[in-house]
Amino acid sequence: MKYDIRHLPARKRIALVAHDHKKDDLIDWAWFNREMLAKHELFATGTTGRLLEEKLDRPVRKLMSGPLGGDQQIGAMIANGEIDMLIFFWDPMEAQPHDTDIKALLRLVAVWNIPMASDRSTADFMLTSPLMNHPYECKVPDYSNYLKRSIP
Ligand code: PGA
Repeated sequence: MKYDIRHLPARKRIALVAHDHKKDDLIDWAWFNREMLAKHELFATGTTGRLLEEKLDRPVRKLMSGPLGGDQQIGAMIANGEIDMLIFFWDPMEAQPHDTDIKALLRLVAVWNIPMASDRSTADFMLTSPLMNHPYECKVPDYSNYLKRSIP
């Protein structure tokens, strides 16, 4: 399989999203990891971002609230190479009005090989990786053959 390389910078652009019943968990996790997070740039869906800013007392680039389009905005940023990793505490116990947007976001994470944590333990492993504070060559499948495919 052929790959393209995306260069992730040492200072990562991290997107954070939490569903309502997971927000406490994400805010608590972010506070516990505030020193590591201080080295990186934070983006978030609207409500998650407001809560993070209040707790961490630092700027977070806030997008729209998830159900109003925030998940799709993050997906577009991933496709554009503007987000390097995603911390997404989604709620497995409650259906969301924007389930389709969530599915679309998770799909783009896989398309672009973005590191993603959907729970606290994975997020801990991710944040303590030696790769966090170094540039990283992210291997992305070479989609050129797909783009050149013939349409019957
Ligand atoms: P919110 O969106 O941070 O604006 O609540 C999160 C989501 O449900 O996607």
